[in-house]
Amino acid sequence: MKRIILHWTAGKYQPNQCDLEHYHYLVGAEGEIYEGKFKVEDNEVCRGNSYAMHTGGGNTGSIGVSMCAMLGFKNEHNAGDYPITPVQFERTMKLCAELLKKYGIPLGADTLMTHYEFGQVHPKTTSFGKIDIVFIPPYPWVKKDEAGSFIRSKVRWYLENL
Ligand SMILES: [Zn+2]
Repeated sequence: MKRIILHWTAGKYQPNQCDLEHYHYLVGAEGEIYEGKFKVEDNEVCRGNSYAMHTGGGNTGSIGVSMCAMLGFKNEHNAGDYPITPVQFERTMKLCAELLKKYGIPLGADTLMTHYEFGQVHPKTTSFGKIDIVFIPPYPWVKKDEAGSFIRSKVRWYLENL
């Protein structure tokens, strides 16, 4: 595997059936982890419909991790009724560190990225314009284009402290 792409589901605090089919791992509001229908290895080579479709134009070699939250998000002033919780965010950062370690992936801007960042780098894919993750409710001062590097600094801490 070459990278992790991080998402939010734009749903409630638990995954629905559709979410389970689209991501490898999901994290609920209390930090509980759900395994999706497809295994990480199913995305090594994406064939037919037997892989987790989480990132348009970028599924091959990509582990999809998603936080179950953000239904009704409009902007930084109106994050809806299901904002990402602090424990959910922290557990997700730790999970990303665990997965990087497990799969021997070095931490970098193109190996741990948000769906938003993937779209910015690949503007001709359907991922362009995706808004996960432009806002981190537990850290509301982090700006849209700094969310990815903020996330990587958090994951780096977990990597060094696992
Ligand atoms: Zn996404």
